[in-house]
Amino acid sequence: MSATPPSARIRREPPAFRRVAVAGVTALTPRLIRVTVGGPDLDGLVIEQPAASVRLLLPPAGTTELVMPTWNGNEFLLPDGSRPAIRTLTPLRLDPAIQELDLEIVVHDGGAASAWAEAARPGDKAAISGPGRGYPIDAEAAGFLLGGDESAIPAISQLLEVLPDDKPVHVVVEVADPAARLELPKHPAATVEWLDLPPGAPPGDALVAAVIGADLAPGTRVWAAGEAAAMQRIRRHLLDERNMSRSETWIRGYWKTGRAGDSDDD
Ligand SMILES: Cc1cc2nc3c(=O)[nH]c(=O)nc-3n(C[C@H](O)[C@H](O)[C@H](O)COP(=O)(O)OP(=O)(O)OC[C@H]3O[C@@H](n4cnc5c(N)ncnc54)[C@H](O)[C@@H]3O)c2cc1C
Repeated sequence: MSATPPSARIRREPPAFRRVAVAGVTALTPRLIRVTVGGPDLDGLVIEQPAASVRLLLPPAGTTELVMPTWNGNEFLLPDGSRPAIRTLTPLRLDPAIQELDLEIVVHDGGAASAWAEAARPGDKAAISGPGRGYPIDAEAAGFLLGGDESAIPAISQLLEVLPDDKPVHVVVEVADPAARLELPKHPAATVEWLDLPPGAPPGDALVAAVIGADLAPGTRVWAAGEAAAMQRIRRHLLDERNMSRSETWIRGYWKTGRAGDSDDD
């Protein structure tokens, strides 16, 4: 056990925040909003892997003025000592020529990022930091199983655009609301299965059942992201019951029931 109290821990400072402004807002479904952010600070941002991450800094709740936090060696804090709203998202189309980046944000109850996206208007201020590492596609894989809930739809869409055309891909997406279904990018060897979360079931329940029931040919790689407890169940199943190795699986908790902020429990 570490003798260092958590308050005194020194962590490596994350990449600096780049100031951006909302350039466009598109509702892809009633449950997913594409927010395009842009600005000269995006110059030099390079995203090499699919399903990577960026951190989005939002103005304090109820305001539109962005207050930049400072790093105290352990976390970002605002000048008044409070924690800023910072959320992790998947960086999508990045156009260096016009310095714009697309983000897609799930609409759900009680979320700071969700509420921000619903209210977003051109010119609104925010900031971006990153990227965090994404998915290293294994060229030796026999095929891929991609599983996720609504928060993983942006990453899954991006993966479908870059996975090798000749590898079978099975996609399983669980939605908490049927309105969240949308057309995913075409992949010549992909099959897509949409699952509705039964009312009252814990998030990820239908997804976990689908992964447990999936026919995984030898050499298949599994990518999965969504609610943290469900991801833990998927991880245990694949590692303990199917005896897959960690290198054959890439499973990340993207959020945690009842907790604000992401659950980056990689
Ligand atoms: C690497 C990575 C990539 C991600 N990419 C995306 C992305 O592209 N788009 C995206 O929308 N999310 C993405 N997420 C998940 C996102 O960071 C979390 O869902 C985050 O909590 C959303 O912030 P919020 O302010 O809306 O909700 P919060 O204020 O953080 O949470 C408030 C409440 O809402 C619940 N909640 C949080 N997220 C969800 C959800 N998705 N569905 C239902 N309830 C929820 C929480 O349990 C909490 O009780 C990603 C996370 C990681 C780690």
